[in-house]
Formats: sequence, structure tokens, C-alpha cells
Amino acid sequence: MTILDCAIIGGGPAGLTAGLYTTRGGLENVTMFEKGMPGGQITNSSEIENYPGVTGEITGMDLMMPWPAQCQKFGLKHEMVNVVRVTKSNDLFTIHQEDGTTVDAHSVIMGTGSSPRRAGFTGEKDFLGRGVSTCATCDGFFYKGKEVVVIGGGDTALEEALYLAKICSKVYLVHRRDTFRSAPNTVERIKKSENIELILNSFPDEVYGDSAGVTGLRVKNRDGESRDISVPGIFTFVGNDVNNQTLIQEDGTFLCDMNEQGQVIVDISMKTSVAGLFATGDMRIAAPKQVISAAGDGAVAALQAISYVDELLN
Ligand code: FAD
Ligand code: NAP
Repeated sequence: MTILDCAIIGGGPAGLTAGLYTTRGGLENVTMFEKGMPGGQITNSSEIENYPGVTGEITGMDLMMPWPAQCQKFGLKHEMVNVVRVTKSNDLFTIHQEDGTTVDAHSVIMGTGSSPRRAGFTGEKDFLGRGVSTCATCDGFFYKGKEVVVIGGGDTALEEALYLAKICSKVYLVHRRDTFRSAPNTVERIKKSENIELILNSFPDEVYGDSAGVTGLRVKNRDGESRDISVPGIFTFVGNDVNNQTLIQEDGTFLCDMNEQGQVIVDISMKTSVAGLFATGDMRIAAPKQVISAAGDGAVAALQAISYVDELLN
């Protein structure tokens, strides 16, 4: 069985850039394992305005569309598969796929990113996909001309609230504090928007509805007062959890060193505590959580992987 020079786990901006640089930099056998369509979480974004050189209104999907073909041109292979575990024995890594089959590799670049966090209010799980959503570009259109709630106070919540305000008749922005994490110019745009109502110092308490889906959300403020908002749609943007499950070994320990938040500890070369294993993008410590930085990590890790494999085999 062929041993890969490099296995890339995840096909977001980090994984795709690692794919471009490893193949173009001379590694012969490189496969990117991506469980869905390549592009990563930015494909859920309705607007990206901070990727250098890309000006004008552009969606995350538009931005990422050309990336896979560019990598494939230099020989990157793509397996659409969920990787359940990565292990290492002696100098060889093994990629364990969901169907039980395995692939061996001399080096591994991890780029599994992060996933939307649950806010934790009553009914959230039951109504997920039936009125509760984590993706405005995917589901916003269902609420055209209707009122919706957005929960959160970070960049994602505010940017998606602005997007939804263009489609929906009104957006209630529920945030648990009275200041935001988001960039100041985004906060300004929110404050100027005529159909966004801020509900601050308030927590989502319970979502309710019927067999057709959501009919409303009860929120509570810091004084314990409740308010019912009648809406058919609720969008939660309360942060992300690192996708690190693939690194968990059979005995429950991680393959490499992690911090308390479950992020992979790397040095400035994206090297982990395990030789030949690199971690990039949103999953690593101190990640700026940006497309540009994830892509940069992918390039750095790829150059390191090329040197590592070269030394290992020659
Ligand atoms: P991801 O993009 O998360 O990609 C990881 C990939 O790995 C996914 O495709 C996933 O399917 C795959 N994967 C995960 N586990 C497995 C597995 N076990 N097996 C196989 N495949 C797996 N950043 C900006 O710079 N500007 C913005 O305007 C901006 N807007 C954003 C708006 C939204 C709504 C969101 C959610 C994020 C936004 N970000 C923005 C942040 C940006 O999207 C991320 O920082 C970036 O996508 C991280 O890239 P990544 O490659 O590390 O991971
Ligand atoms: P985030 O910055 O972690 O913000 C999460 C928000 O949700 C916070 O306001 C938080 O409140 C709130 N929250 C958390 N748990 C909650 C709960 N259980 N109930 C109610 N509210 C809750 O997450 P994000 O906005 O998804 O951004 C993630 C990263 O991606 C950030 O680094 C961000 O800068 C980046 N990003 C960048 C851009 C851009 O550059 N344009 C766009 C999107 C995302 P508190 O504030 O009180 O903690």
C-alpha cells in the first residue's frame, strides 16, 4: 500500500493552503481528507471584507470556490471522508477513516478548524433545523420579510445580524452584556441600522413552538425580568469549539500536547510536540481565527512538512 508523503486533515483555508504548498513544493503523494465540500466554515459567511486584495461585496463561498482547483492542478488528491483518528507508531502515522479503512503517511498537517457552539437555552437542541440555525447565509432566506432573533455579541453575530437585516423585516439582537467583542466599525453599522433592535444584558431562556417550528423566544435580563419575542427564526452565533476529536487516542489521551481549552500547542513553525505532526488554523493555540492567518499557517506547516519528509526519507 502506498504511504503518503503528507496527509492533510481538513479542507478549510488552512488545509487547502497546506495542499497547495506541499504539492507545489515537491511532495509527490499528498491527500487532503475533508468530510464535506472543501472551503471550511467561511463558506457559511455572507460577506468577507478583510481578505487582502479581495475588494467589493463577496461571500465566503465566492472566496473559497477557486481554491480546490488550484491545489488539484499541482497534484493534491481529495478524499471526501470523515477521519475518526490519527495515530503514530514509530515514524509512521495512520489515518483511521470512518469506514474502518486506514491510510499511512510520513507526515500529517491537521486543519480541522472549529464548529459552532450551542448557547445552551431550553429547547435549542429540539428546534435546531426547525427555526434555530447557526448559518444566516444558509437559512436567512426562509425568513424573508419576517422578524428574527440573533444571539451573540461577537463579530459573527453582528455581521450576520447586518446580513439578516437586509432580508428580514426586523432583527432582535440579544446579547448578554452591554458591550460587544465585535470590531468597532461593525458595532457602528449595527447602531445605525433602522431595523435592528438591541436587547442587551439579556440571556436567551427558552425557545418554544409547535410542530411547524419555532414561534418565539423568551429572554431574561439581569434583573430576572422576562420578555417574549414572537419570531419564527433564531440564529445563534455564540463562538466556536475546536475540532480536536481526531487527535484523541484509544486510551483517551491526545496524540500531542494540548492546552486546557483543547487547542493544539504549536511553535511558530506549526510544529506540535510530535515529530512530523503539524497543526494549523483555528485549532491551534492563539489562533487569530481569520481566513488569512489559517492560510498562512497552512503554508508554514507545508514548508516544514517538506523538510521533515525530506530528512526522514533521505
Ligand atoms: P475551518 O474553516 O473550520 O475548516 C476545517 C475543515 O475541516 C472543515 O471543512 C471541516 O469539514 C473539516 N473537518 C473537520 N473535522 C474533520 C474530520 N474529522 N475529517 C475530515 N474533515 C474534517 N474570518 C475572516 O478572516 N474574515 C471574516 O469575515 C470571517 N467571517 C466569518 C463568518 C462566519 C459566519 C464564520 C463562522 C467564521 C468567519 N471567519 C472569518 C473565521 C474563518 O472562517 C476561520 O478562521 C477559518 O475558516 C478557519 O480555517 P481553518 O482551515 O482553520 O478551519
Ligand atoms: P466570539 O468572538 O467568541 O463571540 C461569541 C459571543 O457569544 C460573545 O459575545 C459571547 O458573549 C456570546 N456568548 C457566548 N456564549 C454564550 C451563551 N451561552 N449565551 C449567550 N451568549 C453567549 O465568537 P465569534 O463571533 O463566532 O468569533 C469567533 C472568532 O472569529 C473571533 O476571533 C472573531 O474575531 C473571528 N471572526 C472574525 C470576523 C471578521 O474578521 N470579520 C468575522 C467573524 C468571526 P460575551 O461577549 O459576553 O463573552
